[in-house]
Amino acid sequence: MTSVQDAEAPAGEVVLEAQGLTKHFPVRRGLRDLFNRRDRAAVHAVDDVHLILRRGRVTALVGESGSGKSTVARLLAQLYPRTDGDIKLHGTSTRVRGGRNFRRYAARVQMIFQDPFASLNPVHTIRYHLTRALKIHGNAGTNAAELEQALHDVLNRVSMTPPERYLDKFPHELSGGQRQRVAIARALGANPEALLADEPVSMLDVSIRLGVLNLLRDLKERLNLAILYITHDIASARYFADDTMVMYAGRMVEGGDSETVTQSPAHPYTKLLIDSAPDPDRLLGELEPDTRDRGNGEPPSLINPPAGCRFHPRCPMAGPRCETELPVPLVIGDKPGHWAACWLYDEQGVGR
Ligand code: ATP
Ligand code: SF4
Repeated sequence: MTSVQDAEAPAGEVVLEAQGLTKHFPVRRGLRDLFNRRDRAAVHAVDDVHLILRRGRVTALVGESGSGKSTVARLLAQLYPRTDGDIKLHGTSTRVRGGRNFRRYAARVQMIFQDPFASLNPVHTIRYHLTRALKIHGNAGTNAAELEQALHDVLNRVSMTPPERYLDKFPHELSGGQRQRVAIARALGANPEALLADEPVSMLDVSIRLGVLNLLRDLKERLNLAILYITHDIASARYFADDTMVMYAGRMVEGGDSETVTQSPAHPYTKLLIDSAPDPDRLLGELEPDTRDRGNGEPPSLINPPAGCRFHPRCPMAGPRCETELPVPLVIGDKPGHWAACWLYDEQGVGR
């Protein structure tokens, strides 16, 4: 068995690293009764996730609805307390939480949400939103002229030019794409090193998705940002991300460079995701809301997740070993960094 630790790492300084990240949401009483559980049942939303974000690279996190992607992003943004594991910023643990530590962390790691309308307050202008972000993070300068310059700079960075055309508008006066650009500008107001983008284009018209993804890619290059790109659309991961991680039922199942993961997938679940995309050659075409219901069966309950490999009830390749033993990440082929958590790639196989 070859450990994934032996695999060659891609270039780029590590900004953020999750180690064994775990989040279990306690189940409320009504649901406990429904599942006939008298113990302290929990939704196993994220289990033992390892993830690295590097400077100047986009990492896609791909999976069906409910696989735990947003929970990973919220954990990385420290919006949720974690059940277990650690998050390191430049190698420094974030286990010790505290007001000042958190503010420093929040400036370095910014989140962009799926719905730009919901994330902007409708009663305030763009100027208000951006000024607030700049001031909170100490980037507003020392006088009115410096603040105005900083406002212009963040809007220029997201190609909203000339800035004065947009600064005094309200969110409802902008298009969906422009609102998402403002949300990105607001995140940039913190001068971050990492952006966590949770389905940043899925609520936008198909015609403007590419523009927003190209903007993020441009920012990655110009500002040397580490970007986490969460999506249920594996085709867009191929187009946009340098690396792709695939998540199933709260666990990471495959990872590697995007070209390899999308063109030579190893894990049966990744293959299913690719096969169930409406048109494998289209990049950002007619996206479905998610890929649920189109594969072989349904994702499992995360209150009682299957033992062994969580994918085994749906997996066409499953053997007896898969029902009892949790697969470990294994190096695949000779592509640096490509791994899959699947017993098919272990010398002992799936145990037929
Ligand atoms: P989507 O693409 O639909 O957003 P996702 O892959 O981002 O899905 P999550 O939103 O992270 O998945 O949810 C993972 C699991 O955790 C789901 O079963 C969800 O119901 C559960 N979950 C998420 N947030 C909470 C919460 N606050 N309390 C209880 N359960 C939650
Ligand atoms: Fe399928 Fe077994 Fe591999 Fe899981 S470990 S994906 S069940 S073959």
